[in-house]
Amino acid sequence: MSRFIALPVDGDAFILQRAGYTILVDGGKRSELLASELARFKVTHLDFVVCTHADEDHAGGLVDLLGRSSISVNEFWLPGAWLQSLPVLLPHPKKVVDELVGEADLFQDRDIFNEKIAYAGESEINARQIEYNNFRKEKHLDIKQREQEKSGRGLDWLKEWVKPSTVSSVDAARMFRNGERRIKYRVRKKGMSSQTAANWIRLIKTAQRIREIALQAIDHNVCVRWFDHKDFRRKNYAEGGEPELLIPLNSIELTAPPTFVVGLMHKKLSTLNVHSLVFLSPGYDEAEVPEHSRFSVVFTGDSPLGYGKNYAQSWLIWPNEASTRTIATAPHHGSESNAHAYAHLQAVTDVLIWIRSGGLSRHPEGTYRSIPIGSRYCTNCPHLGLERRVVELYMVAPFLIDVKGYQCSC
Ligand SMILES: [Zn+2]
Ligand SMILES: [Zn+2]
Repeated sequence: MSRFIALPVDGDAFILQRAGYTILVDGGKRSELLASELARFKVTHLDFVVCTHADEDHAGGLVDLLGRSSISVNEFWLPGAWLQSLPVLLPHPKKVVDELVGEADLFQDRDIFNEKIAYAGESEINARQIEYNNFRKEKHLDIKQREQEKSGRGLDWLKEWVKPSTVSSVDAARMFRNGERRIKYRVRKKGMSSQTAANWIRLIKTAQRIREIALQAIDHNVCVRWFDHKDFRRKNYAEGGEPELLIPLNSIELTAPPTFVVGLMHKKLSTLNVHSLVFLSPGYDEAEVPEHSRFSVVFTGDSPLGYGKNYAQSWLIWPNEASTRTIATAPHHGSESNAHAYAHLQAVTDVLIWIRSGGLSRHPEGTYRSIPIGSRYCTNCPHLGLERRVVELYMVAPFLIDVKGYQCSC
């Protein structure tokens, strides 16, 4: 029997227990809250902790989770994009803060934080009804081989960047706070708009979160695997993960540290929703269960599951071996900016249940709310003014039984 739990934290945090493994995807905003929720559900060990992207409502709770609790973790699965800032961020946080403040002066109030503008210039994934599944079959051997040499490799890369002189979290916190003060000064004295300033401050906090999560892995000697979305866009296929348990849909697991690219720090730290990692638990763990009654689980993060204008062009391809009876997290908390994502996913699989968490008080918006009642659950429905509550699904073939939580009617 598999169990899926949407934890009622501020933000996204999902637990999937199947085949004897416990997976956590994202951690909400705060680790105290996450730790207490995990304790409530008697989770003391996490085999895989996935972070879809560095936004506060997904990554915030993963900062210092291990310092605040006695939870043990086998592996962190983190965005490969972080490897572009960490070689500087780990040893020299002040340098990163200085670069960000410098870039804030350079760009002033230009609209560089607009996701649609930012993404328009990027190379797009080609349309490809190609032999993706054949490709996966060919590659299967490689993946198996790699599994065998599963190691702390991704952690070793981090350790290389940590120098004896690396500043402590406490000292670094002072440097990040100082960066925030310098941005606020620009609002008061240099006429920077408070909206722009908020974006720069968000980036400074993002840098701090990324650094803290990396340091946590080092301190607690947790294996790290890195999943790169840029490689996916270049190569047009996803690869890596644990083939029968959890696989990426829009990234490639790195086997070597990526080449460090010289570039603007704000771009390296940006947390565009299109870069949010998407993972699939393909649902063939229950070997004794007939194929038609297996369940896949998709963790969509904040991804629109597409690219191009309004993300209307889907990049999703469903792996052959994955069950098409699917439970999915609502992309980007049910935000209308990801409206196409529902159709993208429905085009390749049969989503039986959508589960929504986190987001703003205006969420969920129209497209999510137009899903038939009975097929959607929320940890909170701000429209109804309800308290946050857990959504818990027990997946037992051939039906889903014991759905605990709000059947969303907002
Ligand atoms: Zn989010
Ligand atoms: Zn709802």
